[in-house]
Amino acid sequence: MSEKVNVTEIFGENVFNDAAMRERLPKAIYKELKKTIELGKELNPGIADTVANAMRDWAIEKGATHYTHWFQPMTGITAEKHDSFINPTDDGKVMMDFSGKELIKGEPDASSFPSGGLRATNEARGYTAWDCTSPAFVKESPDGSTILCIPTAFSSYTGEALDKKIPLLRSMEAVNTQALRILKLFGNTTSTKVTTSVGPEQEYFLVDKKDYDKRKDLILTGRTLFGAMPPKGQELDDHYFGTVRERVLSYMNDLNIELWKLGISAKTQHNEVAPCQHELAPIYGTTNVGTDHNQLVMETMKRVAERHNFACLLHEKPFAGVNGSGKHNNWSMGTDDGINLLDPGKTPHENIQFLLILTAILKAVDEHADLLRLSASSPGNDHRLGANEAPPAIISVFLGEQLDDVLKQLDTTGEATSSIQGKTYESGVSTLPSFRQDATDRNRTSPFAFTGNKFEFRMVGSTQSIATPNIILNTIVADSLCQIADELEKADDFDMAVHDKIKELIAKHKRIIFNGDGYSDEWVEEAERRGLPNIKCMVDAVAAYKKEENIALFEKFNVLSRAELESRAEIYYENYAKQINIEAKTMLDMSKKQIIPAVMKYSADTAAGVNELKAVGIDTSVQEDILKEIAKELKNLTVATEKLAKLDDKALDLEDDMDKAAHCFREEVFPAMTDVRTPADKLEGLVGKEYWPFPQYEDILFYV
Ligand code: ADP
Ligand code: MG
Repeated sequence: MSEKVNVTEIFGENVFNDAAMRERLPKAIYKELKKTIELGKELNPGIADTVANAMRDWAIEKGATHYTHWFQPMTGITAEKHDSFINPTDDGKVMMDFSGKELIKGEPDASSFPSGGLRATNEARGYTAWDCTSPAFVKESPDGSTILCIPTAFSSYTGEALDKKIPLLRSMEAVNTQALRILKLFGNTTSTKVTTSVGPEQEYFLVDKKDYDKRKDLILTGRTLFGAMPPKGQELDDHYFGTVRERVLSYMNDLNIELWKLGISAKTQHNEVAPCQHELAPIYGTTNVGTDHNQLVMETMKRVAERHNFACLLHEKPFAGVNGSGKHNNWSMGTDDGINLLDPGKTPHENIQFLLILTAILKAVDEHADLLRLSASSPGNDHRLGANEAPPAIISVFLGEQLDDVLKQLDTTGEATSSIQGKTYESGVSTLPSFRQDATDRNRTSPFAFTGNKFEFRMVGSTQSIATPNIILNTIVADSLCQIADELEKADDFDMAVHDKIKELIAKHKRIIFNGDGYSDEWVEEAERRGLPNIKCMVDAVAAYKKEENIALFEKFNVLSRAELESRAEIYYENYAKQINIEAKTMLDMSKKQIIPAVMKYSADTAAGVNELKAVGIDTSVQEDILKEIAKELKNLTVATEKLAKLDDKALDLEDDMDKAAHCFREEVFPAMTDVRTPADKLEGLVGKEYWPFPQYEDILFYV
């Protein structure tokens, strides 16, 4: 379908990137802007007009008529309000205007975005401010027109963050400051900045648009609320890395082109475990840009799908019984002069630094497992975490055998040490073996795995913005590094102190290391013995934002204030309650208006046939048994449906207290939904296919 493209030519063509800026801005202004970007500072109003004009001209050449401040409110998706460039002139015509003021700051009405109570104390107005570390871009519509998008941060009138970007930028700053302190202790005088990187692997499903359009549950909730298992599921493992079908390949090609134009380095694509499930991974980049890009990836996936008569499902669990979708958040820290702090070095000196940072991360993950767990929480992800396909809800760290061995030898409190290849790491001065990523040694069951030169946080859900997981990772690691730097900066003998510190950290936090099968029941018991939290669902996870020690942590690093945390907790509860309410209401609707009438029609038609057979003296006992079975399940379905309606009303009545409401939705409404689904799915197996009111799993899963 798509024509041949010259990738190097189109890559980044829709981005006002460094090349475009250099070409279009006066040298002095370009230099100043570049410095602003590098330092992550606010744009100097003195140069804003010139930058805005250059940006406008560039965008107009690309077909833009409008601009928007593109931001990421607490909904987890992006928001935009379009303003055209037009400005009336005296002669009844217009000119295309875009001022520095309009570039720097926007004032969208904040009142319809979730604020978790922050709005009650503040004005409804919100401010968007250009995050100039993330470049502006144009978004194309199919007709060729474009919109200039300016990535912005979104805050309230009084400066509280109303989005996910502000705390993300703040958390990156925290890591920068604390990591530099550690590097300095190791005698590093050349690095001036430490930046965190992210490479999010995005999983998704593609289903036929015509099936999608017939399923209210997919349209309204993103997942199927009903559906009996087809004769074939994913048991043959024939989809994972299988040959990509032509229709899907053509979609992927189109998707890649769109992403490349936006400067998004779409790199890897393959079929995933479940039928019609796929994955796309970009090359990793700076966390805030990577987060923007992941939002664009999700949006573009959906948009391009329509063009190919697909619907793209990003939900964590679109189909019960087959694999769900996650988003592996690959995370690392690197310096401006190219050192990856998670890369074990080649010299003993580098190795010690690596081991200190590694153990600092162990400390962070062990001490703040509750926050990491919360960061991977969404109503959809509740279906995945702890189910037998995704990392369990227990946070643990996988290091791999080699590294685990090294730590064991440094752990004087542990079991007897063994030595690898005759080397002793007792004093920590030997060179560590180099850690090549070993494809055969990948533990896919670990929620937090070290994979050679980065950590892979695998709990994150496929629909989620990766902002929160990275805010948490950055903040807890910054805290850990800060505490360690506080001590080491005071040490008389640094070498000695580092070695002692590494040993101490291993001894204290080794309980978080687990290299075994994370999906096994034994691990759940073992984790309990180790005292590791096992937080089963989103509503239980939210409490982490209300703990005093966590509030103190976020405030210490200026990432989120008490008020901002409280509002975010509120938004989590509200989001959960709303989502489950929509699901329950959709289920009621489908049950009452679609399934029950279909079953009644099938029963009535069958009964009429039975009577005809009887009239000519044929034994109809088998048919009657089937009809009785159907009647029984229909009764179960009706009773369960009524009960769900009552419980949903009960939960809705609690809306004044979102915490209570969310718990009621989780503890009462959610199980009641399973009770509706069970008889309905049984009926699906009993009722003639042509009577069933919407496409079934077997129709949807195997024909794309
Ligand atoms: P997989 O885990 O599926 O085998 P890879 O190891 O190739 O895949 O990497 C997956 C993702 O991790 C990619 O998006 C890649 O760019 C990203 N990645 C690689 N190195 C780093 C790093 N140092 N920091 C963050 N992400 C990284
Ligand atoms: Mg991976």
